[in-house]
Amino acid sequence: MALKNDQYNQILREYDNRMLQNKHNLTIRLNEAYGLIPELKELEEEMISLSAKSGRMALYGDDSSLKALKERTSDLKARQIELLLSNGFPADYLDMQYQCVKCKDTGRIGNEKCNCFKQAVADLMYSGSNIKTILAHENFSKFSFHYYSDDFIDEAIGLSPLSNMQKVVASCKNFIRHFNKTHDNLLLLGNTGVGKTFLANCIAKELLDRGNTVIYLTAFRLFDILEKHKFSRDEDSSYAAANQFDYILDCDLLIIDDLGTELNNSFTNSQLYLIINERLLRQKSTIISTNLSLPNINTTYGERIFSRIVSSYSVQRIIGEDIRLHKAVNHINS
Ligand SMILES: [Zn+2]
Repeated sequence: MALKNDQYNQILREYDNRMLQNKHNLTIRLNEAYGLIPELKELEEEMISLSAKSGRMALYGDDSSLKALKERTSDLKARQIELLLSNGFPADYLDMQYQCVKCKDTGRIGNEKCNCFKQAVADLMYSGSNIKTILAHENFSKFSFHYYSDDFIDEAIGLSPLSNMQKVVASCKNFIRHFNKTHDNLLLLGNTGVGKTFLANCIAKELLDRGNTVIYLTAFRLFDILEKHKFSRDEDSSYAAANQFDYILDCDLLIIDDLGTELNNSFTNSQLYLIINERLLRQKSTIISTNLSLPNINTTYGERIFSRIVSSYSVQRIIGEDIRLHKAVNHINS
């Protein structure tokens, strides 16, 4: 995956800034804690001098002194934690805090790029999709069953909208739980406004928080990128589209929202098949949401795509009223 140099440098700068910020925050915490509990500073100084001594001892192979020194250090550490906790600080208050504990905000684990780095690249390429702002409002902590009625049974599925949604949410949580093992895929079916996008975003948030790379695209935007990738003669935009295309095939989770709202033709059909098929081969999960019914997917996209989806996706149908309409009506009445 190639990024342009200036884009790459922009991300590296963000990592540098993050590390500086971490150090700065630690200094603030140290000053605060030392001011309140002077003994902490003495402990820290002794630990630093012990660590220098242990380096020398290791060099001379002085094992028994080294053992005593290690014991002393762990006693000091225990005393430090005791002091912190008894003064209402968390035990790790004087440790460096990282946004990504896996790579300690370096963006790398050995010679490999950390997933947080890959996501930073994805965020840069798809900054128009603004997923992080959306996810602050659309996540499981904001999810409510309140919008799903328990007053009637839907004849087609034999459940009330509420019981059905409880089942759907349980499946989504299972999808998250086994995400890195089973590489499942989800097809979310339902009318406009029943909460498909919201649910897909809830899943995105959970998986991003667990260090997976996630790309969210409306079907309209997805095919726009694919078209540029295939047909653009402008060097810059086809270069950007080539990068985006790599990520579409390779991110841990791809969300294609509102399939069926794009202008559908033989080009979009062949590209959709390519993406679905390639991601299955690479064992990368995909979530597709659509207003279309299963038979409509078959007629719109053809047997090849239909059978891929039916055989490899868990199909979840959401029923209920249009939540956006419901909220708008309540807003007018209140
Ligand atoms: Zn990382």
